[in-house]
Amino acid sequence: MELYNLKNKLEKVSFLEATKLGLGNKQGLFFPLKLPYFNKKEIINLLSMDFISRSVFILDKIIGNEIPYSKLFSIVKKSFYFPIPLVKVTKNIFCLELFHGPTLSFKDFGARFMSNIISYINKTENKNITILTATSGDTGAAVAHSFYGINNIKVVILYPKKNISYIQKKIFCNLGKNITTIAVNGNFDMCQKLVKKSFDDFLLKKKLNLNSANSINISRLIAQVCYYFEAFAKFKKYGYNNLIVSVPSGNFGNLTAGLISKSIGLNIKNFIVATNSNDTVPRFLNSNIWLPKKTINTLSNAMDINNPSNWPRIIELFKINNWDLNNLYYGSVSDNLTKKSLIELYNLNYISEPHAAVAYNVLKKFIKNTDFGIFLGTAHPIKFKESLKLIIKNDILIPNILKNTNNLSISSYNMDYDFNLLKNFLLTL
Ligand SMILES: *Cc1c(COP(=O)(O)O)cnc(C)c1O
Repeated sequence: MELYNLKNKLEKVSFLEATKLGLGNKQGLFFPLKLPYFNKKEIINLLSMDFISRSVFILDKIIGNEIPYSKLFSIVKKSFYFPIPLVKVTKNIFCLELFHGPTLSFKDFGARFMSNIISYINKTENKNITILTATSGDTGAAVAHSFYGINNIKVVILYPKKNISYIQKKIFCNLGKNITTIAVNGNFDMCQKLVKKSFDDFLLKKKLNLNSANSINISRLIAQVCYYFEAFAKFKKYGYNNLIVSVPSGNFGNLTAGLISKSIGLNIKNFIVATNSNDTVPRFLNSNIWLPKKTINTLSNAMDINNPSNWPRIIELFKINNWDLNNLYYGSVSDNLTKKSLIELYNLNYISEPHAAVAYNVLKKFIKNTDFGIFLGTAHPIKFKESLKLIIKNDILIPNILKNTNNLSISSYNMDYDFNLLKNFLLTL
């Protein structure tokens, strides 16, 4: 698989290099030079396979011969070992629950696949590396768990001190060993800036072999393509056509993966961009003006992002496929309407959480009677237990995965928004 830098088409790298580097020169994103295409017959064949075999088949076609098939098979099997239920909510609306992995969010798919690829690379190179990443909650958890206990790899995670939930912290701020967590006095965008600055710092980059693990990493994106195929496969019994998928979006990695799945042959009629009040993309689609505003804290905190890093990839996907951005559905949802949707879902006997509820809300606006719609369930409701209790007036059962972490205390460092503090910290870690 060859990839080029969207900011300099002459910079070309392999899949393994792109995974290792994260970003190219001038912070440019890597984008595949060529994607495979599955025709109708091949798609039917793919849909009849089980999730693991199908995922290996697709990823192998995307990646090419950089990783032996048998190795890729064991990486995929290790990464995707949890179920993906498609739950019927109304007669034509379903939730694809992507939150049954070890850290209870869809980020387990991308993060686990990526970490297994990085470990694979690292085994052959035998170097010490440091993974430095910023999180609005779920990435950090998924990344921490996926690298936990791996030799030669240190993981440092920055998160906005006040904007992530208690349960989110419980999941990843107590692991110890090779995992360090830092609570930054600031919001997610500020955490991301600190990470970007570190990557621009010559000394840090050289001394620590820095690798970012956020959603701009190409290995995460292609891993996520697999569950769009799974959704479609599960959908077979309801009829194929006119499937619309609503994606609760923050950094737009999830939507990028969905669009890649369409681009390689999956017949999804349309996608919906669903954001909370941090609505840079819906405003852009409406006015053609790119104008990120100040980040607002919302109930769906993992989407409190105003400068989504994957957006250039989406533009590129539209360009290479000759798709029209005007056909993309979109909407932004206030906290008030998110609450209304959560209550509506609850009355339909479905307990959801704020991110999925945003996607459900916009889906309802666009879906016609003849369509089938899926909204992606990106996190387990338990992560938002405190806010949900006030909205649906009911408690949420603790899933088994969390029962063991309940008595562990949180052991993060605290840090002001100051690059030099972080730099010194990293150099002495
Ligand atoms: C990260 C996250 C999102 C946003 O996904 P992107 O790929 O960044 O658009 C949505 N919901 C939840 C629960 C998340 O953790």
